[in-house]
Amino acid sequence: MVRVRFAPSPTGHLHVGALRTALFNWLFARHHQGVFVLRIEDTDVARSSEEMSQSIMEALRWVGLDWDEGPIYQSQRFDIYRKAARSLVEKGLAYYCFCTPEEIEKRRQETQAKGGHWKYDRHCLNLPESQKKELLEKGVPAAIRFLVPEGVTGFEDLVHGHISVENKNLEDFVLLRSDGFPTYHLSVVVDDIETKITHVIRGDDHISNTPKQILLYRAFEAPVPQFAHLPLILGPDRKKLSKRHGDTSVLNFRDKGYLPLAFFNFMAQLSWSPGPEDKVYSIEEMVREFSLDRISKGSPVFDLAKLEWLNSKLINEMPLSELIEQLRPWLEKEGLWSEELIKEKKIWFEHLVELVRSRSRTLVDLVEMIAPFISDKVKYDPEAVKKHLLDPKLGQLLPKLKEDFIQLVQFTAQETEKVLRERAEKEGVKAALLIHSLRVLLLGKAVSPGIFEVLELMGKEKTLARMDNLPEARKTLEFIKDIEKSGEVKDEQQK
Ligand code: GLU
Repeated sequence: MVRVRFAPSPTGHLHVGALRTALFNWLFARHHQGVFVLRIEDTDVARSSEEMSQSIMEALRWVGLDWDEGPIYQSQRFDIYRKAARSLVEKGLAYYCFCTPEEIEKRRQETQAKGGHWKYDRHCLNLPESQKKELLEKGVPAAIRFLVPEGVTGFEDLVHGHISVENKNLEDFVLLRSDGFPTYHLSVVVDDIETKITHVIRGDDHISNTPKQILLYRAFEAPVPQFAHLPLILGPDRKKLSKRHGDTSVLNFRDKGYLPLAFFNFMAQLSWSPGPEDKVYSIEEMVREFSLDRISKGSPVFDLAKLEWLNSKLINEMPLSELIEQLRPWLEKEGLWSEELIKEKKIWFEHLVELVRSRSRTLVDLVEMIAPFISDKVKYDPEAVKKHLLDPKLGQLLPKLKEDFIQLVQFTAQETEKVLRERAEKEGVKAALLIHSLRVLLLGKAVSPGIFEVLELMGKEKTLARMDNLPEARKTLEFIKDIEKSGEVKDEQQK
């Protein structure tokens, strides 16, 4: 039975690098109908917080990663780690170390001054038994160090192939610090043994930890799991992905309006793909196809353009009812939701979402495009006003066009287009002048789906009311009055 774990340290929000680790563990577990364990590595009590643990779990849930066991909090297991470390001392596989950091630092500098390479010099391993006993009895603070045996430690990494180190290059690392807190190596191995982890899948920044941990498994006489180390994610500049490349926390992508499935695909496709990359795969397809041996060794580049592409592809491909379900909390947040959108106004609303989805990369884009159709208020983009609403002819033209619209019995895309073009011809102006100005007046911005479809969906009443908004829209330009006074309106418009 496959058993894997995701073991984040709750010292910050879940970031994309850690999420990819979680995601591959989850896919692997689900593919093999195994168990996915969540473990919170909060042994660094000062830097960890429950708030961050909750935030990490919220991010996992958002992406759709559920866990079968846990969360196991390491901070509740200190006694277990202490007991485990002492058991190794009893077996002669670890030893007490009384050296203070200052003493170690002094000897390190002396060794390096002589051109030597420092690793812990086993000073305390070689103390006479009687002296060790005395120090312990006196209660002198003591760490416990692992006694690294001679030989070579190797393993078959499921991504990188064979990796080995000579043990002489490893230091007798600390298992339990003199303040009684376990180190990462101790707690991670004790827990992986206890939860019977079969595969450790984690970032390749942990490769150098693996030989030490393998030695610990052997010391505890426990089966050694298999290891798969995932390549580091790079930013577009090919440097390690970090805050410099923008907010890399997972919840930030939720808040920007990405869909969980698009984000899941994007993260998975950073190092693996179930097939051609020009597709959004369902979770079931990814679970079915997942295998560790298809993970690429090379470092993937975090390319936001790809995420946007996947997201807009999914927005356009998913069933309308599902998209509306996803949109609902967003519209609620903006005070734009009402039940009639899925009842009395269902057909109209579906038509609207259908119309704007092809122009949306995110749910935020969608909400922005939908808002003017639902809300009574329009937010005018000053750039759009400046570009399309400053022509002095509009003051005369729009009321005439409004009259034409009032006459219409059928306020359809076809009919409105017909009268608008006729009006433009009669007045000797380009239809584009009317089209652009209508678009800005109705929606507040300079881009939208075809204006005549917009008119039909907006409806006669709202359209006519908004056609009176010219003065209000122009007010968004603070400098409008000065421009009008100095007669520069035309120049502005021609720019
Ligand atoms: N807590 C470790 C980290 O966040 C993970 C340890 C592990 O996976 O072995 O990097």
